[in-house]
Amino acid sequence: MSRGEAFCVACGAGPPHSGDRLCETCFRDRNTLSECDETSQAYRCPKCGMNFENARWGYLEQEDLLQRRLDDSLRVHERANAVGIATHAETIDDRNVRIHVQVDGQIDAFHFNDQHEVIVRTSNMICKTCTRKDGNYYEAIVQIRSAGRKLEDSEIEELRGSLDTLLASMEPDPMFFITKEGAVVGGWDVTMGSKSLARNWARHMIQRWGGQTKETHSVVGQKDGMEVTRLTVLYRRPGYDLGDVLRWRNRLWMVSAWQKDGPILLAQDRREKTGASWRDLEKAIVMSRFVEQIEVDLLNRDASAAEFMDPRDFQMQTVRLPYDDDGKQPRLRLGWITDEWVALPRVRNPDEGHVAREG
Ligand SMILES: [Zn+2]
Ligand SMILES: [Zn+2]
Repeated sequence: MSRGEAFCVACGAGPPHSGDRLCETCFRDRNTLSECDETSQAYRCPKCGMNFENARWGYLEQEDLLQRRLDDSLRVHERANAVGIATHAETIDDRNVRIHVQVDGQIDAFHFNDQHEVIVRTSNMICKTCTRKDGNYYEAIVQIRSAGRKLEDSEIEELRGSLDTLLASMEPDPMFFITKEGAVVGGWDVTMGSKSLARNWARHMIQRWGGQTKETHSVVGQKDGMEVTRLTVLYRRPGYDLGDVLRWRNRLWMVSAWQKDGPILLAQDRREKTGASWRDLEKAIVMSRFVEQIEVDLLNRDASAAEFMDPRDFQMQTVRLPYDDDGKQPRLRLGWITDEWVALPRVRNPDEGHVAREG
């Protein structure tokens, strides 16, 4: 045999040959471009609709689910080049989708074109979250209360709303579910699947409305040799809010910021700032709530007083200027305290004050 004259190692035929020196017929007998399973199994929770893929639960669009099932079912020859895959999904019924698959590509000198069909079958499987919800499972209870009085409905709504806001800002977690919730004497209780969610929410409320929490743990049983505990977080919202004016130690103070141990107060009669503890203020009386204060335009002013129109009866009224008046501000914030309008000083440092809550 002369030099360079190649032959098929299997049958002796001439070129063209593959990389491993097989003629086209012998190569095609021994190789396929692609293989595909006839069926592919998917799982969906019938209660919440989550899919189970890659060993975890989550919501998937139909298109993504089918792509994952196809990736799992289709295998392409490792030496294939210029591979093109075209698919068409045909819904058979709620649980079955047929995917038509066309694969073409090149292996060595030869072009291949395959067609497959795979049926993606979706079966029911109850997810971990729904299993626990059904079993009334919970890890934590958050009790929302006020310090020293009953929470108003609007306050409960505001506090409860903050849980939804918080959840929307957090990475989803299957344990972030609410088992039950409802009104109780003096407040609202929420039973939930996650201790970390309970703690996060309590921290969130403290930052926004001040106050304190108390945590209690109870052992409810054993699992795999570990104690199973439940957490109760009691959150007490103070009886006052940022921007409220309080009477405390016979002077008027404005609540200007929250700290761990109590609020920071600004005096109303002169430039003075002090911290008070939650306990200090248990006896404090709210003289003017921030939400009831008004902003008025000044019509006339002199060195110590200004005139404005009382929005309640449209009569001209005179009010003493606050200690921090700069002699030219066109508007004042007023609180109705005891039985007259009192002009309130401005909060100078925005991150220290109620200014932020107006937005
Ligand atoms: Zn051959
Ligand atoms: Zn589920």
